[in-house]
Amino acid sequence: MKVFKFGGASVKDAAAVRNVADIISLFKGDKIGVVVSAMGKTTNALELIVDALYHREKSTFDSLVEERKSFHIDIISSLFKDVNHPIYAEITTEFELLSKMYDARIPDNYNFEYDQIVSLGEVISTKIVNAFLNECNISSRYADARLLIRTNNKYREGEVDWNKTEELFKLNFIPVFSECDVQVIQGFIGHTSEGLTSTLGREGSDYTAGIMAFCCDAESVTIWKDVPGMLNADPKWFDNTIKLNRISFHEAIELSYYGASVIHPKTLKPLQNKNIPLYVKSFIEPHASGTVIQSSTSEDHLVPSFIFKMNQVLFSFTPKDFSFIVEQNLSDIFSRLAKADAKINLMQNSALNFSILVDEEKVSIEEIQRLFEDTYNVRFNQGLELVTVRHYDQETLDRVTTDKEIILQQKTRETARLIVKQR
Ligand code: ASP
Ligand code: MG
Repeated sequence: MKVFKFGGASVKDAAAVRNVADIISLFKGDKIGVVVSAMGKTTNALELIVDALYHREKSTFDSLVEERKSFHIDIISSLFKDVNHPIYAEITTEFELLSKMYDARIPDNYNFEYDQIVSLGEVISTKIVNAFLNECNISSRYADARLLIRTNNKYREGEVDWNKTEELFKLNFIPVFSECDVQVIQGFIGHTSEGLTSTLGREGSDYTAGIMAFCCDAESVTIWKDVPGMLNADPKWFDNTIKLNRISFHEAIELSYYGASVIHPKTLKPLQNKNIPLYVKSFIEPHASGTVIQSSTSEDHLVPSFIFKMNQVLFSFTPKDFSFIVEQNLSDIFSRLAKADAKINLMQNSALNFSILVDEEKVSIEEIQRLFEDTYNVRFNQGLELVTVRHYDQETLDRVTTDKEIILQQKTRETARLIVKQR
């Protein structure tokens, strides 16, 4: 069995859904578990609907629901010419249930409410895709992640119960392939032991593909994207990007740790554990080779990769009593940082100084100052960039530092990290 994942962009309109069916048709004779995200920007739209319900803004709620409904009905009308096709009623019913949620619930737990509503994006998209595949004579069944993927009760960030989930897939998913070739399942969503809907965190559909592949011992996973594969830099910051043909799980995990955003970071570990290769391929050019992520590290060093983080702020803490930065100071500094909920992108210490780099939008400079000023002198430097280069050489470092002042650098054999400022 193979696992395919189609994200929001690959089902953003009727033409895109037709393209998904065309791609699946290329794999006649295979059994395929197809993970699908919400269509286009539906998840963002549903987030606004949750806010409207939560803040009791009835007219906003109604108009947003109406807008999402017509978005989907437009897609359906282009895909299904028979106006009596049952999909019209099915999708209309989903939106009626959503409308009724406004009065049916007294919202008290935001995260719970969020999951009940935002999950509908995937429920609706998979119903449509499944119906359309059948329309194209692909023998497909709808599978429900709310019966298969078991999580704990941490709404919006459900943590997977692997044993239970594997059991459910073995019992209720794998055997269904004796009656069909394809099963379409929602990305991003799961259920708790009470049977309530949970979600796995934004952009979590890749992770669903990893979970399913792990639980079904799939032969491979393919993530179909609007890029030709994994690139060695984000084209937003870089001309002349190069496609990585073949990299190891280890390398892909490192890249995503440093901030490369092609694959949801949690996706890789379950695949690595069972040695299931992950292909990243273009849904625009499905015959092109894409990138394969697998266990061999032999090609990792061939192409340097660049990861940029913009809008960074560097804080430096110096003990007011001129004490050295040693273990005791460090644990004190970390406990203060934990209070500020600061996510550290890079850190460095010297005898009298401890520095951390964080995303400017994720911290409050005033709060950090307030938390430290009794014991430390606090300095900060805003408007910085963090550049990480994997498999660097001097030429690549020169390339990323032209017209820039280097504020700080750290190098290991594989990785160079530079904090730079535009001159
Ligand atoms: N639809 C969800 C989101 O946009 C999950 C995903 O697309 O991976 O976050
Ligand atoms: Mg999405």
